[in-house]
Amino acid sequence: MLKNSDLYQNSLRVIPSGVNSPVRAFGAVGGVPRFIRKGKGSKIWDSEGNCFIDYICSWGPLVLGHANVAIVRAISDAAAEGSTFGAPTERELQMAEKLVRNFKSVEKIRLVSSGTEATMSAVRLSRGYTRRDKIIKFEGCYHGHVDSLLVEAGSGALTFGQPSSAGVTGKATEDTITLAYGNYDDLKSTFKKYGDEIAAVIIEPVAGNMNLVIPEKDYLLLARQLCNQFGSILVFDEVMTGFRVGLQGAQGVFDIEPDLTTLGKVIGGGLPMGAFGGKADIMDQLAPAGPVYQAGTLSGNPVAVAAGLTTLDHLMQVGVFESIVKFTNNLVRGLREAAEDAELEFSAQSLGTMFGFSFSKNSPQNLVESQSADHEKFRQFFHLMLEEGVYLAPSPFEAGFTSAAHNDQDLEKTISSARIAFGKIVEASEVRR
Ligand SMILES: *Cc1c(COP(=O)(O)O)cnc(C)c1O
Repeated sequence: MLKNSDLYQNSLRVIPSGVNSPVRAFGAVGGVPRFIRKGKGSKIWDSEGNCFIDYICSWGPLVLGHANVAIVRAISDAAAEGSTFGAPTERELQMAEKLVRNFKSVEKIRLVSSGTEATMSAVRLSRGYTRRDKIIKFEGCYHGHVDSLLVEAGSGALTFGQPSSAGVTGKATEDTITLAYGNYDDLKSTFKKYGDEIAAVIIEPVAGNMNLVIPEKDYLLLARQLCNQFGSILVFDEVMTGFRVGLQGAQGVFDIEPDLTTLGKVIGGGLPMGAFGGKADIMDQLAPAGPVYQAGTLSGNPVAVAAGLTTLDHLMQVGVFESIVKFTNNLVRGLREAAEDAELEFSAQSLGTMFGFSFSKNSPQNLVESQSADHEKFRQFFHLMLEEGVYLAPSPFEAGFTSAAHNDQDLEKTISSARIAFGKIVEASEVRR
């Protein structure tokens, strides 16, 4: 049996930074990433046999927990009938019908294989439909690694895109305008200046990639109203929030209809899948009937669709989602109480089955506030919780996720672990003084 540190050393030789996606490298918290051998329900086990209560749930998808029996069966049944055809299948139709029924704003939808593909396609479609170039995005919102969306956080009101990644050309981001999340005046003045050139506003309607940030409904309404006024497309990136903050996503929570919606994570049931959909007249601009090209060899993959359909069927049974929400509320309340008792500056909140916590007086409202929390305390807390057998996101800029498999025992264990961790953090800071 190889230890985590051996596997990490070996991985560093053949995989850049030893991981296939950056946050897995523990860069924000330091230490050796745990190599996960298996998962069941709310728990995961690493290569050394250590067991953790998992609050990442693969960054959202596993809303029913790990290795759910019905999903495993659906996957193996589908695979036994052939894993991919490159031709339409009835199951894809069922998935499209289910999503169209579920989201009031979605009349037609296409399946893809990742959230990145979904947002990339939504941006291209918006530009093709409006015949305009500029898009607005917001600091701290992540929409996958699409070139035009990998833009530096702005320093002032109006920043035209500087790439946030090497390899992205200035030309790829020069039509991307980045605004502070939740700033009404910036949004208004940008539309006043560039309204007729703006193809789309793309936003995480509840942000989960800079901690958990819940905007005011009025802010999303302002975006809706400005897009109506100027003929721009409003894109809600619900790759993370879809079937997480509510069964109808953030658009259901706020009762606001975007023109286009991107989905991913939960709808793939733990296999690679994304989707983008919306108004029929926009979606009909896609190839082959329309002029906007978009395609995918594995799009609508039968095995992924089977996993996704089974996930959604179970999640939408009476009481299932509500019970996860209840767990999540209790988790957040328990963490807050534990921190209060330890007299630590701490905030925690949840919406639906997503939660966020922060070593700051109030929950962050934007990227700058999220950046100004006490990240050293976060780092300590993360490692202390890991020692106690609780696996949290290894970065203060991520949201947390719960599942239908998390139970009262998990809750008790998590809160008692947090009490121990908070106690040690206070102790350490007193010794230092
Ligand atoms: C995860 C995520 C994406 C990217 O999805 P991938 O499947 O990782 O490509 C896009 N948008 C949001 C809001 C996400 O959380």
